[in-house]
Amino acid sequence: MTSNKPFDVEAVRKDFPILSREVQGKPLVYLDNAATSQKPQSVIDKLVSYYSEINANVHRGVHTLSQEATDEYEGARSKVRKLINAKEDAEIIFTRGTTEGINLVAQTLGVQRVGEGDEVIISNMEHHSNVVPWQVLCDQIGAHLRVVPINDDGELLMDEYEKMITPRTKLVSIVHLSNALGTINPVKDIVAIAHQHGVPVLLDGAQSAPHLTVDVQDLDCDFYAFSGHKLYGPTGIGILYGKREVLESMSVYQTGGEQIKSVTFEKTIYNDLPYKFEAGTPNIAGAIGLGAAVDYINAIGLDRAEAYESELLQYGTEQLQTIEGLKLIGTAQHKSGVLSFLLEGIHPHDIGTVLDTQGIAIRTGHHCTQPLMQRFQIPATARASLAFYNTKAEIDALVEGIHKTFEVFSL
Ligand code: PMP
Repeated sequence: MTSNKPFDVEAVRKDFPILSREVQGKPLVYLDNAATSQKPQSVIDKLVSYYSEINANVHRGVHTLSQEATDEYEGARSKVRKLINAKEDAEIIFTRGTTEGINLVAQTLGVQRVGEGDEVIISNMEHHSNVVPWQVLCDQIGAHLRVVPINDDGELLMDEYEKMITPRTKLVSIVHLSNALGTINPVKDIVAIAHQHGVPVLLDGAQSAPHLTVDVQDLDCDFYAFSGHKLYGPTGIGILYGKREVLESMSVYQTGGEQIKSVTFEKTIYNDLPYKFEAGTPNIAGAIGLGAAVDYINAIGLDRAEAYESELLQYGTEQLQTIEGLKLIGTAQHKSGVLSFLLEGIHPHDIGTVLDTQGIAIRTGHHCTQPLMQRFQIPATARASLAFYNTKAEIDALVEGIHKTFEVFSL
């Protein structure tokens, strides 16, 4: 749902109860949204109402509660399908999160497609969740991981990517929006180039799903994986979108209840999509909570939130650039709300600690992107990551906190 009204951040903030708490005697300034986002009251209420009113297992019962739980669970799947414009609900698989989605593809399609001496392409800016599953697969099979390099601004070298694809390339898996740099990658081109060579592409959407309007049919990606907890929903729930024909060609991942049609000791017949990939009792509350998060996002309008976040990013970038001794890591032309930075002479962990005394939550460390840190020859960064409930006043508080950090360490 979209509207032409200006984005009312103060009204939006009231929907998130945690934003009115204090930390260390100061109003909370939550700038760790790339790690996990806060939850609106409607999501919290949905979890409570699920457990207090309809808790039951899904798909199995003829009784009313089970049917209501199933309706809500499947309703959430439809909401997610609409959010990312997948063709059908059966292409939406509930997982635990991005990590599980990528592991699922690596251990099914990966094992089927990749042979000894073949290659899987990732990039230098991948989260460990989009490195290690492929590394494990390559080790299992005797295949090789190829890594698309990046420039000093944190942008993929697309020419190198194009050159890297050979008849040996069997899969491409690339992040849409980098959690450590904020770079938005040209994923539509990445997919188109791979498809010219008949190579399927997985997009890691952990950071893009919460911040960008995503249309999986337009991107034409084969897979798109993301996590509920970064999308203002609960932890422990995520989505793996896959094109029907690709999902159907895949072997099973985990096996057990729910994902079967019939079992004898001689033979098991697997269930249809998406259940074939949903073994065991699912995270019912998580899925329903994620559905409520999607409703919330639709109500505020993701495109309006996106425009507001871009404005904040621009303001934050300008403000941080005025600070002497601060270096931004990640200066791509096409970026979304991540401000990774270094302060001359101060370890990022110390920055995080001083900011915490001011009530400001940022993340410090390698952000699960150690190969990226190696590329920039740094051990870590301090990272402020934005969401649509952040304000310019909070950026000002961050800037003040950074000045305070310099003061503390100049003593
Ligand atoms: N990929 C990216 C780009 C991420 O930012 C994250 C989470 N930080 C992940 C993958 C993994 O997500 P999860 O831990 O929710 O599975």
